[in-house]
Amino acid sequence: MAAIETVGVVGAGTMGSGIAHVFARAGFRVLLCDVEQRFLDRAQGQIRINLGREAAKGKLPEAEVEPVLARITATVDRAALGAAALVVEAAPERFELKSEIFRALDALMPENAILASNTSSISITRLAALTHRPAQVIGMHFFNPVPVMALVEVVRGMATSEATFATVHAMAVRLGKTPVEVNDAPGFVSNRVLMPLINEAAFAVMEGVATAEAVDQVFKMGMAHPMGPLTLADFIGLDVCVDILRVLQEGFGDLKYRPCPLLVRMVDAGWLGRKSGRGFYSYER
Ligand code: NAD
Repeated sequence: MAAIETVGVVGAGTMGSGIAHVFARAGFRVLLCDVEQRFLDRAQGQIRINLGREAAKGKLPEAEVEPVLARITATVDRAALGAAALVVEAAPERFELKSEIFRALDALMPENAILASNTSSISITRLAALTHRPAQVIGMHFFNPVPVMALVEVVRGMATSEATFATVHAMAVRLGKTPVEVNDAPGFVSNRVLMPLINEAAFAVMEGVATAEAVDQVFKMGMAHPMGPLTLADFIGLDVCVDILRVLQEGFGDLKYRPCPLLVRMVDAGWLGRKSGRGFYSYER
């Protein structure tokens, strides 16, 4: 297939803005799409701040900031994505929402375009089956914060073709990332392994085995983790953790993934972690 020069990103939130940032920084033209202009404005503001930080640290020439920003076109018109050869969907983690987006993208994108999802846990195979191009549907799972984290899980659905996999793998390398190949299964590798760790850490706190601080210290000092599992859970969002655990429980039909009642209670209380100001720890707002 012809070299991809224009990339679409659907959803300009935490992940979509970071994904647009890294594509534009690597020289791609980016069409960034969201449902309301204010989300696009927020994303562009955030990208400007983050590029400025990179420039301040000497990671990007100051003179490059404006040209990188100029490569990103923000739009609320989904039809504009038709000019892209690859779209990365980064809308909220709800199957119905992603289904609607994938059906619509399938109808409007050129027939050789690739549709990728940044989903954390939803089946790539199920999303692919909604389209007429299942061989060109793939997972491209970035990590937060996207400009900083090196990993991309490249997720093969049941029908993903070798050509699609090779294109997206090469694309991740061109972004300066390290792609890791995984097959489609609930939570892929990252969340399948991480979420039970976070869940078990929450059980240890609930059962009074140790405080959150003590649990985190065990992992920082004993296993050389840069942050403990409960600090990480607060960073990810406890609601997101519970949602992913439920996807794992349902997907594997195994009770070992049931969310810890303490996590569920904290989410019910609105203690979602960093973003709400309180989780296992308290944060200045
Ligand atoms: P977010 O809520 O920050 O952003 C989602 C954006 O999508 C919002 O700006 C919203 O307005 C927009 N949106 C909603 N409906 C849309 C539509 N129909 N068309 C276009 N845009 C639409 O969410 P996020 O944290 O960026 O997560 C996005 C995806 O990335 C999810 O699938 C999530 O599981 C995955 N993910 C998140 C993280 C993380 O740490 N936040 C990490 C890896 C993967």
